[in-house]
Amino acid sequence: MDAEVRLQFKLGETTLKYFTPEELRCSCCDQDGMNEAFMDKVSELREQLGFPFIVTSAYRCVKHPIEARKDSPGAHTTGRAIDIGVSGMSAYLVLQGALKAGFRGIGVQQKGEGRFIHLDDIEDSGDRPRPWVWSY
Ligand SMILES: [Zn+2]
Repeated sequence: MDAEVRLQFKLGETTLKYFTPEELRCSCCDQDGMNEAFMDKVSELREQLGFPFIVTSAYRCVKHPIEARKDSPGAHTTGRAIDIGVSGMSAYLVLQGALKAGFRGIGVQQKGEGRFIHLDDIEDSGDRPRPWVWSY
């Protein structure tokens, strides 16, 4: 894929400027599944903050090992969740922006290796109440 195409790709009607199709796919089977409205919101936050978002996990199918061991499939299987590899000040800025932008599911992993912030905007449910903040 050439540089131009990598910079902008279409997800349905949405043109994504900051993300590649590859990094948004399920890592177990390469399926696409991200929600357009959700990615619009993530892109807007990325635009505002002005630094790269390293995607550590985005769409996951229900057979993905992380989802398969849960009681019920989580937010990533809806295409409305993303994990962004950030720490320190970048993590602070992502949190601040995410709260302002109305992301209602916020997971924080800021210990040791593989630090990230999870953002989602799934509906409130018995299994997964929203708004909600958790750590890993
Ligand atoms: Zn998969």
